[in-house]
Amino acid sequence: MNIEQEIAALRKELHEHNYRYYAQDAPIISDQLFDEKLARLKDLETQHPNFYDPNSPTQRVGGAITKNFDTVVHEQRMYSLDNSYNRQDLLDWEARVCKNLGIEQVDYTCELKYDGASISITYINGKLSQAITRGDGAQGDDVTQNVKTIRTVPLQLTGSTIPEKFTIRGEIMLPIAGFQEMNKLRVAAGEEPYMNPRNTASGSLKLQDSTAVAARPLACYLYQIVAARPLFTSQLESLEAAARWGFHVPKHFVHAPNMDAVFRFLDYWEQQRSTLPYEIDGVVIKVNQMAYQEQLGYTAKSPRWAIAYKFKAEAVETILEDVTYQVGRTGAITPVAQLQAVLLGGTVVKRASLHNADFIQTLDLHYNDTVLVEKGGEIIPKITAIKHDKRSVMAKAIVFASLCPECATPLKRKPDEADHYCPNTQGCLPQRVGRVAHFISRKAMDIDGLGAETIHLLIQHNLIDSYADLYTLKEEDLIPLDRLAEKSAQNIVQAIAASVTVPFARVLYALGIRYVGQTVAKKLANHFGSIDALMFATVEDLVQVDEIGERIAQSVVDYFGIAAHHNQLSKLREAGVQLKQVVAALDSTLLEGMRFVVSGVFALYSRDQLKHVIEQNGGKVAASISKNTTYLIAGDKMGPAKRTKATSLGIPIITEQEFNAMLA
Ligand code: AMP
Ligand code: ZN
Repeated sequence: MNIEQEIAALRKELHEHNYRYYAQDAPIISDQLFDEKLARLKDLETQHPNFYDPNSPTQRVGGAITKNFDTVVHEQRMYSLDNSYNRQDLLDWEARVCKNLGIEQVDYTCELKYDGASISITYINGKLSQAITRGDGAQGDDVTQNVKTIRTVPLQLTGSTIPEKFTIRGEIMLPIAGFQEMNKLRVAAGEEPYMNPRNTASGSLKLQDSTAVAARPLACYLYQIVAARPLFTSQLESLEAAARWGFHVPKHFVHAPNMDAVFRFLDYWEQQRSTLPYEIDGVVIKVNQMAYQEQLGYTAKSPRWAIAYKFKAEAVETILEDVTYQVGRTGAITPVAQLQAVLLGGTVVKRASLHNADFIQTLDLHYNDTVLVEKGGEIIPKITAIKHDKRSVMAKAIVFASLCPECATPLKRKPDEADHYCPNTQGCLPQRVGRVAHFISRKAMDIDGLGAETIHLLIQHNLIDSYADLYTLKEEDLIPLDRLAEKSAQNIVQAIAASVTVPFARVLYALGIRYVGQTVAKKLANHFGSIDALMFATVEDLVQVDEIGERIAQSVVDYFGIAAHHNQLSKLREAGVQLKQVVAALDSTLLEGMRFVVSGVFALYSRDQLKHVIEQNGGKVAASISKNTTYLIAGDKMGPAKRTKATSLGIPIITEQEFNAMLA
């Protein structure tokens, strides 16, 4: 057997083992042997890159970095679902369906409604070609590289009746056990735990490093095949076929000949949902016959042939033991209910958000109250009711704190605001830590490697007073700090130094001026052009800017009214941080009037560089192809959808070399 044959044989074998393991749940070799074979394949592929295959089983371990996720138009729109909350809603829906079709009765499928992040995956000739997030339904983000690392997503389908091209829709999920395991590791490493499986699953899809995605125990549950023409006569058949081809289709779907059967399915799962290893938020009922689905069609938002039945949020009773207070980076105080630990929807709940003083007062909360806790869509569960009959006559009402729990400064509350806040902005530790954490965050200065704990230590040891002092930190300052290795200290210092190139708008956002989010920061940066101009702006000047109101304007003026901030700004200036807008002169106007779409991987440029070069020469870059596109610049591994679209619109496709020739 030559190398090429061995690689092909290993790939085939590993695909089959994956199928047995993930689709059929019936592996025939040990995990260890599987890993050995995978390692062998990986070795061969590294030594012989000419046999590269984007769908090799080795792609599971990740490695690809996606800096910017391409926006892609869904060939078939991703609709949402109409919701129903009770049986009458369903009977009404059935009546509409029957009336529409002009018949007496239809049959349905019932499926669980998986609570994760929707995904649309296209297969061409049995191979995974592209995975797109739902986005706004019309277009989403290309997250192919990340989705390929998810074990339950087949890279290569099995069977003989696979259509040449189709798309399958499903939900990316983080099963509860894996989620809890991830959190255990995070807490042990001193990091904040993730809030819930759904948000963590959808956040995972947008990680830049696919190796990090591969490390997460994500799964994908499939529920719908879409194609230009229907491939099956019923939804039931299509689910069965998908399972045969190697897709992970949970086995809990049923065929329901009538609404009574649907109700029985609902009864069962309303009771049993907590026994599932993953979260569901209801059941999806679909008209089973494809011919009827076609006839019923879609409203602007959702199919007429399907409806979601949402379960009531799970609620449990527990005891309110105490109320504690958290101090945010802006000094805002958030009261948190400390609860007797209780199991809710598969996770242990110990805390609930209480929002603010008004919320506590409206609930009329007392110590030791028996409260009803519900898991809504939000991150932290909420208290929805109090069992007044269980309150002891001795119970004391909760009185909102009058002093900051961290620095004992008397709290303040503005007459028109709901939040209390700690006015000790310069001295209150969580505020100081929070401001530095915000300053270095990804969308601000993007300084990697400094966790909240390290910042805490830096401030406690007087190594920094504010974020402005980061720039004078040395490796020797960092190394003695808890758990910091030499290498990480070096990386941190380098990352801080590198941040001086971050553009002014992001610096302005990083300063943490109240109400100045990313969008406002961009508007202010564009309008004023520099910190020096902004510093002298009055409220009247500021409200002249599009979308800047009184509240933001006042907050900006207040910020510059504080002497400590000027001190910090001069330190930043000294460090070389961008405090004014840099408007780069164009290199040429050779590409003026041209619109480019860039797709695939390039040899001479990173995608960002290529976009930059286009703009520097007067051209424009668009995310998707339209009839206004002048050229599509095609790299390696460009999505086939883009090629088809460009060809159908008659838009010339050029290589990066041809592009370079245009500039020569
Ligand atoms: P919603 O986001 O509440 O409008 O619900 C629609 C979403 O439910 C779809 O976009 C799917 O991602 C998701 N969903 C989960 N399970 C299913 C299923 N079995 N069939 C159809 N959609 C589902
Ligand atoms: Zn304080």
